[in-house]
Amino acid sequence: MSALEQGTAQRLRALFGHLDGKDLLEALIHGELRGRIAVTSSFGAESAVLLDLVAAVDPATPVIFLDTGELFDETLAYRYQIERRLGLTNIMVVRPTEAELAEAEDLWRDDVDRCCELRKVRPLARVTRAFDALVDGRKRAHGFERQDISTIEDGAGIIKISPLANWSAERIERSFAERGLPRHPLVEQNYRSIGCWPCTRPVEPGQPARAGRWAGVAKSECGIHTLVLGRDGAGI
Ligand code: SF4
Repeated sequence: MSALEQGTAQRLRALFGHLDGKDLLEALIHGELRGRIAVTSSFGAESAVLLDLVAAVDPATPVIFLDTGELFDETLAYRYQIERRLGLTNIMVVRPTEAELAEAEDLWRDDVDRCCELRKVRPLARVTRAFDALVDGRKRAHGFERQDISTIEDGAGIIKISPLANWSAERIERSFAERGLPRHPLVEQNYRSIGCWPCTRPVEPGQPARAGRWAGVAKSECGIHTLVLGRDGAGI
């Protein structure tokens, strides 16, 4: 990893802020961020659309998959289905340590922030030290904290790239249809945003996709997109 110069995100935004989707990925994966950029994917309800674009640009792009130990069996199976279908060759499965798993145990029952820190934020922070930029599938259409995101953002020491930030739910659906992409098996049961099983619920028609995440708790992000522990992994 090279030390990121201050203002890199702003400079990249000035150069490439007019791009999105595959065009943006091409410009960054084959250009300035070559070898220093990875994708994070939950292999959830909409993940196949971004991964399809990544595979078209370079199937050897590192794809970081956080296996929290609490994922649905359907997600673990879907990961292999998508990997084979798209020809992705560099999926990096990242897991919490034994000590983190032991401490996290059933924390999702009464301390979701600590549970997410142990199962997601800390393991991700360890692996992202090798990269200068992370690509994610966030979209403004998801609402909540995501309604104002940009395609290129400064993530306090790491650049956050969201090639689908401007994409509507309709455009995502169109991509699934046009590209013949397989759906996550739980989508047909009205799961529209899929994370760990204890914290994911199906949604009613008309509800925002992420309304089923941490339902009943004042929380809508796990922390991996806000990098609450900081880039240097302090305290990890
Ligand atoms: S989503 Fe739920 S189970 Fe998964 S790490 Fe966060 S609190 Fe724990």
